[in-house]
Amino acid sequence: MTDFSRRQFLRTAALAGGGCAVFLLLGERRAGRASVPPASPAGDYDWTQHSYAYLIDTVACIGCGMCVKACKAENRVPDGFFRTWIERYEISEDGEAAVDSPDGGLNGFEENVSHVKISKAFFVPKMCNHCAHSPCVQVCPVGASYRTKDGVVLVDQERCVGCGYCVQACPYSSRFIPHEEDTPYPRTAQKCTLCYHRITKGLKPACVAACPVGARQLADMKNPFDPVRKRILTERVQVLQPELLTQPQCYYLALDKEVR
Ligand code: SF4
Ligand code: SF4
Repeated sequence: MTDFSRRQFLRTAALAGGGCAVFLLLGERRAGRASVPPASPAGDYDWTQHSYAYLIDTVACIGCGMCVKACKAENRVPDGFFRTWIERYEISEDGEAAVDSPDGGLNGFEENVSHVKISKAFFVPKMCNHCAHSPCVQVCPVGASYRTKDGVVLVDQERCVGCGYCVQACPYSSRFIPHEEDTPYPRTAQKCTLCYHRITKGLKPACVAACPVGARQLADMKNPFDPVRKRILTERVQVLQPELLTQPQCYYLALDKEVR
């Protein structure tokens, strides 16, 4: 069975509820894939000593797109897909909200050319919220989506059969399945990893490192001396769609009520 036809079979089996077939072929598929970066941390990093959260300041963000560019370069995100993106909100004088995100904000935003009078405008960076109660993890039929002990939701690219259940289940549109053959993992679910390969080495996620105004910050909630943790605990932060009870671990400062 070629790699392509095997994947087709696995995807069809998963969609049809054929879990047994999926598990029977999983070992064969794993053996046939190229070597990959490990999903779990290596070296002396102890993931029980960390718990990550993310802070976004919507007042500070200037919509420059540097974070989107950095993410794409760091994670080789294929054209047309985004692990993080920027939305521009424009609220007219009569209270109507307009939202745009050309190319995910990759190249910034053109000046507003609308004839409607704008009462306020702001940028909202978005990404996977690394939900503590993540529907994407719950629906995965093969256990490919999982949450690490330090609070990061990841996808095991070796296990993923590309059925797309998680893409459908994510209420924040944070996942995608690329089809291009030039990506490291075509036809498997992809999303923000919080640059897990970087943070487990003590580095910042690429988007955080690239932001020229500090609008994006990573916090370690198990580090009592972390200043970002202190901001999350003491300032008025909000999460996206709290009514869904997904417990997002991405916190926003000054989130407008129009943002979903
Ligand atoms: S934002 Fe979506 S992909 Fe990320 S953890 Fe939550 S449900 Fe899963
Ligand atoms: S991660 Fe998503 S696409 Fe992959 S197996 Fe799980 S549900 Fe399917």
